[in-house]
Amino acid sequence: MIQSQDIAKDFPILQRKINDNKLIYFDNAATTQKPTHVIESISNFYSNTNSNIHRGVHTLSMESTYEYDQAKDKVAEFINSPNSESIIFTRGTTESINLVAETWGKANLDESSEIVITELEHHSNIVPWQELIKETNSKLKYIPINSDGTLNYENLNQIINSNTKIVSLTHVSNGIGTINNIKKIIKEAQSVGAITLIDAAQSAPHMPIDVQDLGCDFLAFSGHKMLGPTGIGVLYGKKDILEEMPAYQKGGDMILEVTYEKSSWNEVPFKFEAGTPNIAGAIGLKSAIDYLNLISMDSIREHEKELTEHILKEMRNIDGIDILGPESVEDRAGLVSFNIPNVHPHDLGTYLDTKGIAIRTGHHCAMPLIKKLGSHSSARASFYVYNTKNEINEFVTQINNSIKYFDNV
Ligand code: PMP
Repeated sequence: MIQSQDIAKDFPILQRKINDNKLIYFDNAATTQKPTHVIESISNFYSNTNSNIHRGVHTLSMESTYEYDQAKDKVAEFINSPNSESIIFTRGTTESINLVAETWGKANLDESSEIVITELEHHSNIVPWQELIKETNSKLKYIPINSDGTLNYENLNQIINSNTKIVSLTHVSNGIGTINNIKKIIKEAQSVGAITLIDAAQSAPHMPIDVQDLGCDFLAFSGHKMLGPTGIGVLYGKKDILEEMPAYQKGGDMILEVTYEKSSWNEVPFKFEAGTPNIAGAIGLKSAIDYLNLISMDSIREHEKELTEHILKEMRNIDGIDILGPESVEDRAGLVSFNIPNVHPHDLGTYLDTKGIAIRTGHHCAMPLIKKLGSHSSARASFYVYNTKNEINEFVTQINNSIKYFDNV
């Protein structure tokens, strides 16, 4: 069992008061807070080690390079990548997906090709493919959802067929929390020789991930959603596929040789990391992973399941509430997206802020999904390692208070 009250003490921001109330931070699907351990690792880097990597022969540059490479090894171990060369540091999930669409996509798709995604996706896993089909004349297809927000797997072998070249889908929906059976879909894609990309932005921070067990070709996630800093993310790719792919951005560090006439590219992963990378971000992400490993990813999943079970039980007592997403906590990650009759989600979010409670309201960058489920927006509470059942109880009390408040205005 996670002692979340004790964990919360490691996060300076959680000691803050918001509008005279102790902060209850339930906006973790958007970004998570940072423990002192991560903040200090970044501060230590700038205070003691800061230098550019890879090209220097002086002590600071060698130390920076060592720490950056260590961060890559740590990420590789975290997702059980067979090697560190499969790990590319990006700005985040969005850039990781764009990298694949821009390089692998442009090189491998034509008018006979089909891309398959799902109706659950974040805009970051829709828009790059919508743009790519314009440039390659390929087609974009969607695996549909059922009314409870789970994927409909019934016609999978028709949607994924011999024209399918890539299947790109989220592991966990940021809009409504659905956990997809990605193994089933990866298998289906493999049966027709299609490549797979898993958007793990909402899963890598919350449950164990093993890319070798999954068998996916690419996997993307963001440091800031797992206690790390913003501006650092990961693209995992199978090494043989990365080696075949054209370069993404061009410039320093990604080259092998440059003449005035032409250039050749460095080996993977350097081929995909043009320019000075986010060195401090990588070091912060390594510290975040160290912190998560101390708690253990299995315990984090269990903790969030318990919180979700508790909140669902409490919220189902609220008259007329519409809770989006799957019934069972087995199919649902640690987030609850909902609507309350006669209270607009933005008004609810503003009311809760006066009580020190931070939630997200709106379309959660999943506009087509929220529309498909019959809304324009929803309120979303999302949890992490430092959240407690007491916070949930306070949250539910304040939702009930808000209903009374808005009845009277
Ligand atoms: N995919 C999913 C499922 C997400 O939740 C998010 C972030 N909300 C993204 C992609 C994009 O992540 P980032 O903004 O860190 O690039």
